[in-house]
Amino acid sequence: AVKENEPERMPPLPSAKSRRKSVAPQESNRSNKRVSSVMKPFDTQPKKGKFGESSRPNQKFYEMIQDFRETLEITPLTTTDPIEPYKICVCVRKRPLNKQEINKKEIDVVSVPGRGALLVHEPKQKVDLTKYLENQVFHFDYSFDENATNELVYKFTAKPLVLSIFQGCMATCFAYGQTGSGKTHTMGGDFTGRQQNSAKGIYALAAQDVFTHLNHRKYANLDLCIYVSFFEIYNGKVYDLLNKKAKLRVLEDDRQQVQVVGLEEVCVSSADDVIKIIQIGSACRTSGQTSANANSSRSHAVLQIVLRRSDRAATLHGKFSLVDLAGNERGTDVSSNDRSTLVETAEINRSLLALKECIRSLGRNSDHIPFRMSTLTKVLRDSFIGEKSRTCMIAMVSPGMASCEYTMNTLRYADRVKELNAGSKAIE
Ligand code: ADP
Ligand code: MG
Repeated sequence: AVKENEPERMPPLPSAKSRRKSVAPQESNRSNKRVSSVMKPFDTQPKKGKFGESSRPNQKFYEMIQDFRETLEITPLTTTDPIEPYKICVCVRKRPLNKQEINKKEIDVVSVPGRGALLVHEPKQKVDLTKYLENQVFHFDYSFDENATNELVYKFTAKPLVLSIFQGCMATCFAYGQTGSGKTHTMGGDFTGRQQNSAKGIYALAAQDVFTHLNHRKYANLDLCIYVSFFEIYNGKVYDLLNKKAKLRVLEDDRQQVQVVGLEEVCVSSADDVIKIIQIGSACRTSGQTSANANSSRSHAVLQIVLRRSDRAATLHGKFSLVDLAGNERGTDVSSNDRSTLVETAEINRSLLALKECIRSLGRNSDHIPFRMSTLTKVLRDSFIGEKSRTCMIAMVSPGMASCEYTMNTLRYADRVKELNAGSKAIE
């Protein structure tokens, strides 16, 4: 007879939606962010397969995390939850484990109890080999679990900003995180295989709402026209995605106005026009790349939706910049150590640091915005100044234990962006 050597399968993780427990989140509202749940070595052996092998490499951690989750009250955000008007909004989105991760029996170390909270169950081991979890608690304006759709994320993040540009604001929305965490999925649309559904990303959803507002009575007398531009910033250089990656110069005049010289701005008359442009630009972005994630993960992509008056000078009325940032993983992770890669990494780190500092300055209402630190912040300069700036950062995290360190880096960064922002809730 054929012997089965399939290791015993663990039951799938229950989805957050199906689990509502009445117990309060264990220790999660303590001011101390570290909650240690030490576990004695198990009295009973962990579950074994038929030949005594552990059913997954980190079975014990898996069980400890499951036990911890049992104590959590899980109430995911829903479309009916209230949306707050933030000047600076910082959110986090966790993607589901993907097929490869499930095949490798990767464990999910991130929990999203609901509203703004997010926990990372960091697996740790003492010198005596006792395994324990360090449960790190974070709070953001909103946190989205693995079941959240792009539509839901959009509703709480970019949608309120669309309205703001009609009121004359300069808005920005950033997708931040490690390569593979879901930035492009969120901004550009869901992937089915290698095909991307551009109509289902934040870019397209924002474009649809722009046209809804444009046709509204309230804004009809403004006589606005809509323009779109799409460019990439790689190694501090700007490339036009709507003009065959033409390299463009960034100039600052004596009034500190920054201009990207020769950037294509396409006049659009429907959301479908915008979706076509997104497709053209995205194809241009990934063209000439050897592997799927090669350069696009090391460049920032910026889609701008610009409202202009229909006057002679096409006066700027409002602008929405949607940015799919370069992967934030550290240089140590890069397999090749050649010079160009190091330069690339340094440039990315510099621009992400500059971005954080600019948003923090905006939160402080500071006169000094350190926008000259990077090309990214230079081209977005007018989005960081004054009363009319609105910004939203969506920090993306991968759920797997293997990504734990990167996930913590992402969350700490997002936490710093938000820090000074505590008092700036509820505007208007
Ligand atoms: P990034 O742009 O951050 O490098 P991607 O957006 O390309 O990452 O996502 C990596 C993979 O994970 C893609 O195949 C994508 O479809 C998938 N993915 C990302 N986020 C989600 C999500 N929320 N739900 C389902 N799949 C996702
Ligand atoms: Mg990407």
